[in-house]
Amino acid sequence: MGRSGAGRVARPDTRSPNPRAPLGATRGPPWWSHREKPNNHHLHSPAEETTLARKMTRGECALCNRVLGKRALVRHLREHLDSQQASGDADPEGSKDLVHILVDGKYRPEYWMHLEAGGDLTLARLDDMLRYEWLECCDHMSEFLIDGERYTSNLWEDAPRGAGMGVQLRDVLAEGTEFEHVYDFGSSTHLRLRVVGWRRGPSLPVTVRILARNEPPERACVRCGEPAELVCTGCCEGPEGTLLCGACGGDHGCDDERLVIISNSPRCGVCAYEGWD
Ligand SMILES: [Zn+2]
Ligand SMILES: [Zn+2]
Ligand SMILES: [Zn+2]
Ligand SMILES: [Zn+2]
Repeated sequence: MGRSGAGRVARPDTRSPNPRAPLGATRGPPWWSHREKPNNHHLHSPAEETTLARKMTRGECALCNRVLGKRALVRHLREHLDSQQASGDADPEGSKDLVHILVDGKYRPEYWMHLEAGGDLTLARLDDMLRYEWLECCDHMSEFLIDGERYTSNLWEDAPRGAGMGVQLRDVLAEGTEFEHVYDFGSSTHLRLRVVGWRRGPSLPVTVRILARNEPPERACVRCGEPAELVCTGCCEGPEGTLLCGACGGDHGCDDERLVIISNSPRCGVCAYEGWD
């Protein structure tokens, strides 16, 4: 399980340019609305983000609906998955290698997901999933950094960076591997990923299954302190961007198009990201 000798093979990135069926979710419209990109005021420095992000968020286990913290869920989910492994062991023919990954915002760790995927999933499909749930605004390039190797989404031929994302998870991820993902090389969103464990289990009904994810953190309006509902992508008044309640959003000076509803994503407020929530 895990790393095999076949790692680091730079297979072509086989993604279609205009991707991909929803992964493990049935909601919402696609993400490829190409709009004019606003000037990017990067929200704040990584150091500032790190201090801000101390607020811990809790999240719900998708397997039993218990609400726990990010780290408590590591053990909790392993208990679920270990018991499922037993059934995988009983039916070795119908089972496959599955990897459990914890992903969070490198500078916004209050946003996180526990994921499970087949070992034969490609980095490209994992990238699709992260874009779909958290990242996609204007089809920026993205990249995984694993053990010093770069795996880049090649959105055009002759892309200058790294190997493509055609490689399978089992060829690059071992037990405990920590790696990173970057979306957008301008106003970047950095994610940290860690392999919690590998197991044998029955094939998943979806490409990537979300085992748990954070509940939306509470945010306060930078003007009045009431719960914020909107974020302005055109200016940056507070340390987490310009977060506004509905009333203060009404007389906010920026172009209306710059005001978007706050989303449960580490890319909230960045570039043209609109998210789901
Ligand atoms: Zn549970
Ligand atoms: Zn963008
Ligand atoms: Zn307000
Ligand atoms: Zn504004």
